[in-house]
Amino acid sequence: MASRFVPSGPWAPARLPTMPSMLKQRTIKTVTRAVGVGLHSGLRVELTLRPAPPDAGIVFRRVDLPQPVDLKVSAQAVSDTRLASTLSCGDARVLTVEHLMSACAGLGLDNLLIDITAEEVPILDGSAASFVYLLQSAGVVDQPAPRRFVRVTRPVEVRQGEGAQHKWARLDPHHGYTLSFEIEFDHPAVDATGQSVSFDLGSGRYAREIARARTFGFTRDVEMLRANGLARGGGLDNAIVMDDYRVLNADGLRYGDEFAKHKILDAMGDLYLLGRPLLAAYSAFRSGHGLNNLLLRALLDQPDAWEEVIFDDLRQVPPGLAELMPAW
Ligand SMILES: [Zn+2]
Repeated sequence: MASRFVPSGPWAPARLPTMPSMLKQRTIKTVTRAVGVGLHSGLRVELTLRPAPPDAGIVFRRVDLPQPVDLKVSAQAVSDTRLASTLSCGDARVLTVEHLMSACAGLGLDNLLIDITAEEVPILDGSAASFVYLLQSAGVVDQPAPRRFVRVTRPVEVRQGEGAQHKWARLDPHHGYTLSFEIEFDHPAVDATGQSVSFDLGSGRYAREIARARTFGFTRDVEMLRANGLARGGGLDNAIVMDDYRVLNADGLRYGDEFAKHKILDAMGDLYLLGRPLLAAYSAFRSGHGLNNLLLRALLDQPDAWEEVIFDDLRQVPPGLAELMPAW
């Protein structure tokens, strides 16, 4: 019986360099489901996440309507950004898409079909961690099509408000994808934490460093929100809640700078509504869902500020962006 000699140890021949290959689009391997309540509606909702073909993009399907309606993710489909990012197509809406979109950005998922049984994505624990876990459990697979990035080629900036209301967000050219965010909340509990955070997606630390940061709110706002029919599903199990002095959650914070990190999480979700991954350095001061969407629209309005790129040689991909599997 013949056996093959497999060289190993210091005398083994050097490994041949791997052949250049294309950076591919990704979807999930199997169907997966989540059930929860909407943060604002308080309604029970079921999500079924399915693999989708190359170039399909991320599509929400309202399966509860008499005629199912597809809402494809794009900067122009964002219709309302007052408390969350909302997608619209005719009368059909899907609210609070940003945490799920952030998880998709963090895992580098391009194509997904998401059946939803009500108009709001479930809040789950108020972060993106459950979505990351769900998508990762479904498995992430490469698809036979190149991943198409939007590479920013010159700075684009949007500004709003004056004085204490001033806020801005901008994109600068960068070989990679980084985000840096500064908040400014005049509140003792927030003051005591880091008010600015920088994050490099290529670090491979999205799941560990960003995804677990929860949304936050103040008890003084909750009454006003509820009077307007909002925040009905919100509470201590899916948000950091603060009175005028302190954090009310018994377990405290998940990160020392959880507030600023949640703003990075949100920005990643808002910017992934572009429908393509960005190659850019994003920076922002007190930005929110509305200004993030205006930034995308300002980018698209200036065709000389960006170009679409694919990588047919993995050696050209910015460090860390070819492998976005999360490490917890
Ligand atoms: Zn959020």
